[in-house]
Amino acid sequence: MPLLTTSGNEKPDWAIVIHGGAGSDPQNWTEDKTRIREAGLKRALEAGSKALADGRSALDTVELVIRILEDDAAFNAGKGAVLTKEGKAELDASIMDGKTRACGAVAGLTATKNPIHLARRVMTETRHVLLAGQGADEFAQQQKVPLVPPDYFLSKARFDEDKPHFGTVGCAVLDAEGNLAAGTSTGGTSRKLPGRVGDSPIVGAGTYAANDTCAVSGTGVGEEYIRNSVAYDVAARMRYANQSLQEAVTTIMQQTLQAGVGGIIALSKDGNIVMQHNTPGMSCGAADSSGRFETHLVLENGGSPAKGKEPDSSSTAEQEISQLLSQQVKDWNQGDIDAFMKPYWNSEDLTFSSGGKVTRGYASTLAGYKARYPDAKTMGKLDFEQLEFQTLGTDAMQVLGIWKLARDDQPLQGRFTLVLRRYPEGWKIIHDHTSKTPDAPEQP
Ligand code: ASP
Repeated sequence: MPLLTTSGNEKPDWAIVIHGGAGSDPQNWTEDKTRIREAGLKRALEAGSKALADGRSALDTVELVIRILEDDAAFNAGKGAVLTKEGKAELDASIMDGKTRACGAVAGLTATKNPIHLARRVMTETRHVLLAGQGADEFAQQQKVPLVPPDYFLSKARFDEDKPHFGTVGCAVLDAEGNLAAGTSTGGTSRKLPGRVGDSPIVGAGTYAANDTCAVSGTGVGEEYIRNSVAYDVAARMRYANQSLQEAVTTIMQQTLQAGVGGIIALSKDGNIVMQHNTPGMSCGAADSSGRFETHLVLENGGSPAKGKEPDSSSTAEQEISQLLSQQVKDWNQGDIDAFMKPYWNSEDLTFSSGGKVTRGYASTLAGYKARYPDAKTMGKLDFEQLEFQTLGTDAMQVLGIWKLARDDQPLQGRFTLVLRRYPEGWKIIHDHTSKTPDAPEQP
């Protein structure tokens, strides 16, 4: 039986993951290209982390980070966009707000400096989701966003145009308010037919965000991402099949998409980050409020869990429940009984049994807590220790543990047994049996 304490596994206050395109093996790159790419990723990730630490929203941060990458000629977006067969830039981008599921996208832009900015304007200033071609260019003029002459985009002429060039950029963010957002921006695939539109501006294919599950950005052969609704499929697997973020991305990368097609970055509502590619390389990076900060040009094993190490669903459940209980401890220690009660089943059938006295129903349990713990001083400092998990079928779990309550006058401790059931919105405590050691009718 695994023994876990509630430390570790905590939801970060904010988290961010970025990509700068999947594709060729960085071992074959020049030193210059490697250095420039790495520096570009770091710059963007630093700016995003700072914005989030300063309390900026997920949506603002996605736009800010993607604008930085669009202005960096090392990436295939904005300034560094690859060109069509006819030698012109046609840019695509999309952005999505996980809180409201509002989204905006542009395709085939020829003169907008920052397509992600215009995508956001489509979201906020029109009743549409996607503007393409001439109409999108006209909307850019109306919106007075910065426009540039065609030769602004010709920087990629320096690179060997015959080889497919990757370097699309994307970003997924969880902000301190718990909101998710994602965005993607690209010049598309090099030497594409004029008018070709890839997955990056297609919400559900190249970009998706919904607060109940995750935020996703893809990179690779756009046609495949469209055919398989890749970004939405990550969220759908979590929502309908109860897969973890990692299980969802791994399944898509290994079973849905053929090898060599591309990569995915994704971020769950709990702040878990997954970066995977089935191409030789993917420029990417991740950071969060716990101090994590890393960039890569290639991930070991494409970022997927080593064979035999995929998290099975019971260890995923243990992680999710540990995280829930950690949050409860935090909420208790901040004197917030309402937040502490959130993981309890909001039903008349909730059973709360303490020292032999049984309380039925959510409202009575909450009222009981509030009566017993009228202020922060009586609440003291709570900790849960020595958690043991016992799987009950596929969607229920029993958790045994020890609670400790440090109070100036009177430290208390005892045992608890929780029964949790998995609902579409997450795990809920449906039964709580608490006792004091030595046995007496008192509990946190
Ligand atoms: N997915 C992009 C597209 O097909 C290209 C890429 O990610 O490199 O337009």
